[in-house]
Amino acid sequence: MASASSPDPVPGNGAHTGPRTGGMNVSFEFFPPKSEKMEETLWAAVTRLAPLRPSFVSVTYGAGGSTRERTHHTVKRLLGETDLAPAAHLTCVDATREEVDAVVREYRTTGVRHFVALRGDSQTGAGGSYTPTPGGYRNAVELVEGLKKIDDFEISVSAYPEKHPESPDFATDIDLLKRKVDNGATRAITQFFFDNDIYERFVERVRKAGVYIPIVPGIVPIHDFTKVARFSAATGATIPAWLAARFEGLEEDAQTRSHVAAAVCAEQVLDLTKRGLTDFHFYTMNRADLVYSICHILGLRAAKPAGEATSAVAA
Ligand code: FAD
Repeated sequence: MASASSPDPVPGNGAHTGPRTGGMNVSFEFFPPKSEKMEETLWAAVTRLAPLRPSFVSVTYGAGGSTRERTHHTVKRLLGETDLAPAAHLTCVDATREEVDAVVREYRTTGVRHFVALRGDSQTGAGGSYTPTPGGYRNAVELVEGLKKIDDFEISVSAYPEKHPESPDFATDIDLLKRKVDNGATRAITQFFFDNDIYERFVERVRKAGVYIPIVPGIVPIHDFTKVARFSAATGATIPAWLAARFEGLEEDAQTRSHVAAAVCAEQVLDLTKRGLTDFHFYTMNRADLVYSICHILGLRAAKPAGEATSAVAA
């Protein structure tokens, strides 16, 4: 396990180079579907992306009982029907420690070994002030500690290249990240960003603070620029002027928009590979099209069915 106090010899984001040719590793994030139609969309995306052999696939977790049930159902289905390694997102919202621990034990019984441990947002949504649940884990630092008490799980946590919106400064954020690592987190996945210089400056700050775990870029393909711009305002992600210009005038032209989105995302990821990065986490929005194209450009090829010679490797 990488610790906060032992320098990581791996360059770039410090992600492991793994056994694959080319050392490229991708992971995919999905959200639990709310309807039968959405379930079909999700499984079409899973089926399309699975042959790219992601290191893991993660499933987000929402507030409220029914949303949570959908996450459990999706994670269990991934375990039962695919050979993918699912990571279950978990938050501290509206649950006591005992309740969270019970969910974790149930996951363990079904074979889940990897969690993305998060504090979560207040029920009023991102941006509302967060009040810990009485008797619950107060933040991700405590949640990571709680998970490790139950078993030696693999634990990923969040990181914010442009600072968490509630955080007074970078130092507070990075100190929190360090505490998550001290408690056993071995990978951070970033909030999405579009300016790679911002990411790089953040990683420099993190390393200076003595945190050496992989800081895996969270990459969001832009299916809908207007929505992404709105969401960026809430999360604090900068939209560079050049990016807005690329989508200008395409509001009614879905086809061109999707070509531009693939080009923009591939540019971003290729630039990150030039900076030495090897691992990427894609926020898929349960859609495979753009992510598949970008992975192809990165050199990933679908594994051939059993019996054929080549497997999915980075070219
Ligand atoms: P933490 O790391 O615990 O803390 C976030 C911020 O809160 C800190 O940066 C700091 O500013 C402040 N803070 C917390 N504790 C303290 C303290 N003791 N002292 C001072 N400041 C403190 N949300 C979901 O609901 N479901 C998901 O599945 C989900 N998945 C996500 C996946 C990724 C990769 C990312 C980046 C985010 C995800 N989120 C998800 C959003 C996340 O829940 C929110 O950003 C939330 O506001 C913070 O959660 P966290 O785990 O980052 O919090």
